[in-house]
Amino acid sequence: MKPEYPDHPAPADAAQRRAVAPVICYPVDALPRPDLAACRAVRAGWSRVAQVTVPPREARCFDVPAGHFFRITSVEGPQVGDLNLWSADLSERFYSGKSRALHGTHLGAGDRMWSGFPTLRPMATITEDTLDWYGFDEYGGGVHDVIGTRCDPYTHNLLSDGGQYHHCCHSNLTRALAERLNIPPAEAEQHVHDVLNVFMCTGFTRDTGQYFMKASPVRPGDYLEFFAEIDLLGALSACPGGDCGSEHSSDEAACHPLLVEVFRPKAPPAGWASPRPNGYDRSHGAEA
Ligand SMILES: [Zn+2]
Repeated sequence: MKPEYPDHPAPADAAQRRAVAPVICYPVDALPRPDLAACRAVRAGWSRVAQVTVPPREARCFDVPAGHFFRITSVEGPQVGDLNLWSADLSERFYSGKSRALHGTHLGAGDRMWSGFPTLRPMATITEDTLDWYGFDEYGGGVHDVIGTRCDPYTHNLLSDGGQYHHCCHSNLTRALAERLNIPPAEAEQHVHDVLNVFMCTGFTRDTGQYFMKASPVRPGDYLEFFAEIDLLGALSACPGGDCGSEHSSDEAACHPLLVEVFRPKAPPAGWASPRPNGYDRSHGAEA
């Protein structure tokens, strides 16, 4: 949209029409709220059962059983991570678009990563975000977005006159999943999906509505922590854009590893039960 070059003159009541107050598309008051206090309480005395370091411009897979936690931590330097989540049997995957519609453009503590149709259920709940102080900056930028997709070699090819670059997050995630499942990359690629952009600072420009990024405020020691609502297979890519302050889809940016740790609490959070698949009957109004 280019508001500076309208093709059509504004009608006489344009100001009136623009002045209509917005309504929230999906009021989430009806959703059961995660009990963050109960989740956080069981972190005391938990044990770390796995850890994986994701090298720069690479991705790694990790498993998180339901009722466990995982943490993504910045180490060594500012770095953005692209996160994919599947159910352990790969039948469900993270639905970035609906998570955005429900929780907003950027996720934080108390928000969920939802699976796609037909299960549409929480796969993971964010239990702590050390960057929650950031909020939205004067450009409209926020952290941990679900508005971007994942950097990929196809878009790069379009925008760089035929460039071939093999370490975009899409390719990193594809290689990691292929190795994990021992399947060809072309098959693994079918499972790779739009991500949660962990630590990435993004927004839309106010005048043209274009997707922007800026250097992430993340620093070593910052982390984003999740509670697994179902058995999960995760994959995290350390984006070739590094802190995404300049460019991605190249080897130009300074890149750092990311740490993923999985923790098992001594007992599940009080009152917690793994969410069931969505209750819609799936008849879609068709005659039986
Ligand atoms: Zn990336």
